[in-house]
Amino acid sequence: MIIENVHVAPVRGPEIESGYLRIEGDRIAEVAAGPAPDLPGVPRIDGTGCLATPGLVNTHHHLYQWASQGLAQDATLFEWLVALYQVWAAMDAEVVEGAATAGLSWLALSGCTTSSDHHYIFPKGRGDLLAAEIEAARAVGLRFHPARGSMDLGESKGGLPPDVVVEELDDILSATAEAVDAYQDPSFSSMLRVAVAPCSPFSASAELMTESAVLARQKGVRLHTHLAETLDEEEHCQERFGLRPLDYMLKLGWLGPDVWFAHTVHLSDADIGKLAATGTGTAHCPSSNGRLGAGIAPVSELLRRGANVGIGVDGNASSELTPLAGEMRQALLFQRARYGPDALTARQALELATLGGARNLGRQDELGSLEPGKLADIALWRVDGPFTAAVADPVCALVFGPVPPLARVLVGGRTVVEEGELRTLAQDEAGRAGVRAHRRLTKLAQERGFTAAVQIHPGH
Ligand SMILES: [Zn+2]
Repeated sequence: MIIENVHVAPVRGPEIESGYLRIEGDRIAEVAAGPAPDLPGVPRIDGTGCLATPGLVNTHHHLYQWASQGLAQDATLFEWLVALYQVWAAMDAEVVEGAATAGLSWLALSGCTTSSDHHYIFPKGRGDLLAAEIEAARAVGLRFHPARGSMDLGESKGGLPPDVVVEELDDILSATAEAVDAYQDPSFSSMLRVAVAPCSPFSASAELMTESAVLARQKGVRLHTHLAETLDEEEHCQERFGLRPLDYMLKLGWLGPDVWFAHTVHLSDADIGKLAATGTGTAHCPSSNGRLGAGIAPVSELLRRGANVGIGVDGNASSELTPLAGEMRQALLFQRARYGPDALTARQALELATLGGARNLGRQDELGSLEPGKLADIALWRVDGPFTAAVADPVCALVFGPVPPLARVLVGGRTVVEEGELRTLAQDEAGRAGVRAHRRLTKLAQERGFTAAVQIHPGH
């Protein structure tokens, strides 16, 4: 396949104002300027008026939360979690499959080609939740990096979550090892890789954190958790462990190039140095941090010091309908509002959402830039609309403006989105699966007596 007459922003290497991409199998064979060669029998896509970028990589999400959007609208993280844990305790595999189908479709429709997911609640007797979301990712056609999450520190042991949503340490470790054995595909073209991901320092014990790191390193998979998201968390860590969140994780053996943390909003100067020195990545989730009033991560300083930063939408219960591509704009504006107009450029924002994300997932050799030999995960943005064409620089149009329409999204050369429509599934039906998941979760939660948290307009 050839995509021709297109502006190419490869993220690594020089931009091409008018050129072409040639794809062979699931890989990029050639990226070059000028007219494409005449190759008989090779399908051609005319990219006139389009910008080609690497497909976007989402490095933090909780897909099940599609079913609990719009609740606890004015709460802090801890208030929001306490309101929602009991609702989430009612979920089953049917809820997860519907929520993940809608959530992953929504991601594809904003240029995402690879997504991680952090699933950390596994209520007993409610079906195989991990298998349900993996099936949804296969149907939508995205590369998927599910992180087998976990919580073992319930309220009775000094944690934040109620005991009903936590699991026993031994059960967690055996289920996580089984998930890696069942699903991990380490190949170059892999569509499915598994990470190990205890939820947070206030919901996972020190033993679970330590044992998870040992397990992940034995299995050769990556480690993920939430870290330094709010000042409440910092206070919790100081009180319980006498350490800042990052120093606590350092003590537990959790810093290194195989680890990425979600958020890292509240970092000291020394924390930033430790992340950079150890090659530990972070997933920046600006909309979620803004929604929960958590603060904003020092992304420009992290980048200046050489730390890796990717982008994440975070779960939809704290980011609602946030499109992944829109997070580039959020990142750029929040950094500039805090640090000034040169804090983050449009091209740096694009790099966060592509190569930065690929590094977080350990896939920088395969994904994140448009280069020969890499996988053909490509987003083709239409930047020649009657209004958007007035912006001279297409990367500026993509990052500074509202998300432009997608002419095409390719995953390994396979079309997932064409002219703004999902091609792998019936798009409206994928959306309705999310609505059904929401209704089902609400009903299941109400049957268990948790009506307060599912009020539509709390406080009114
Ligand atoms: Zn999260």
